[in-house]
Amino acid sequence: DATKKFNAYITLEDREKLLNDADESDKRLQHQQQQQQSGVKRELEGIPIAVKDNFSTSKLKTTCASKILENYIPSFDATVVSRLKEAGAIIVGKTNMDEFAMGSSTSTGHFGASINPYSRDAGESLVAGGSSGGSAVAVKLNTVSAAIGSDTGGSVRQPAAYCGLLGFKPTYGSISRYGMIAFASSLDTPGFFVHNAVDAAILLDVLVGRDCNDSTSIEHPMQKKFQQYLNSRDNNQDMKGLVFGIPTDYLVKEMDPEIINLWRETVDLIEQAGGKVVAVDLPHTKYALPAYYILATSEASSNLARYDGIRYGASTSGAKSLKQQYMETRSEGFGAEVKRRILLGTMSLSRGSYDNYYNKAQQIRRLVSDDFNQVFNRQSVDILITPTTPSGPFKLGDNQDPIDMYINDIMTIPASLAGLPSASIPLAHSQSNNKSTPTPLSLQLIGNRLQDHKVLEAIQKIM
Ligand code: GLN
Repeated sequence: DATKKFNAYITLEDREKLLNDADESDKRLQHQQQQQQSGVKRELEGIPIAVKDNFSTSKLKTTCASKILENYIPSFDATVVSRLKEAGAIIVGKTNMDEFAMGSSTSTGHFGASINPYSRDAGESLVAGGSSGGSAVAVKLNTVSAAIGSDTGGSVRQPAAYCGLLGFKPTYGSISRYGMIAFASSLDTPGFFVHNAVDAAILLDVLVGRDCNDSTSIEHPMQKKFQQYLNSRDNNQDMKGLVFGIPTDYLVKEMDPEIINLWRETVDLIEQAGGKVVAVDLPHTKYALPAYYILATSEASSNLARYDGIRYGASTSGAKSLKQQYMETRSEGFGAEVKRRILLGTMSLSRGSYDNYYNKAQQIRRLVSDDFNQVFNRQSVDILITPTTPSGPFKLGDNQDPIDMYINDIMTIPASLAGLPSASIPLAHSQSNNKSTPTPLSLQLIGNRLQDHKVLEAIQKIM
């Protein structure tokens, strides 16, 4: 019932099957206990996990929250899903999202909005954040122990911040995108929602690894060693040896004073705990958001060309020509935000605009990456610490203007453009007295490429 009220799931797995799978897991665990084979226990045996509805699941509908894929059942499992299953996890269902992962509110999908569990009453619902809002809500309501999301420009970190969870986006390429329905392939990164660093390390051990089905997937030096690494670090909060960078360029005018305070207090605590803190410049930060919205829409316009009513999903009936069939299928099947992005992307890629838009955005992407390189490789910073979002969860129905919605991503997008590991951690609650339910306040940690384990260590010490 709770899940219905908060609309966390688009599709739930069959109840009988779930009970059956849970029984089987129990039996396996008991058997192992009797045989004292503790060493062979699977990492996620019997653990319920939810998966965002843009990861292909064989036998379970995969809709991307779009009418155009309303009844689509893939013939295979995404690599993320098969790895979870091999580790013993029970996939409980497919979670709600913004249509094709385009958005920051989980309210643009064909199946209605997800509601933030921190909402005061039904009349004043708060958004869960997006686009992986359903996954965040599913974990927050304890329907599962963890949930998979995808993060292209912040879609794991931002809903984690709004729902008070740990949201982790690993280095681009370290978790396979095979079977994850593409939005902007050069940015799309599978990620997840959990409660703490230990759970994050378990999921990284299960999910990170090269996959020959995804040409952008890479070997990770810490693969299968994340838990080991975390265990080997001091479990106390001693931060000696860690260098934290504070990017002053992230102090944007839209920022909520409570979040600025939290940022300041956390930096003080880090220093008290022996961590070194330095101010750093990331001068191209202000160009990241516009560059992202050119690149992401360009890639989306190309990736979404396949939904033509012939190869995938819903198709209109009664069209008189092939062209008319394409046009009507796409007009009926896509929602407003998806259409807006296809149009924007097509424009940026068109001959007359390419040099002024797509090319420029690629150049900015390089400059943003170089900024990070400077800080991590030349100034020897281990972790950048910033707010995740400029403000807390907004009311459902607010930010109707697309530009207002895009501003939410201002602090998550730079790490996406550079493919860096990044996480959002909940650290406090809003004290402003006009809200009767204090909403979560979160900060973001960003690490150097392939230094996901350092991010994990920082989470463990700060949270
Ligand atoms: N909110 C951003 C967008 O709308 C990011 C989405 C995402 O990470 N999938 O594009």
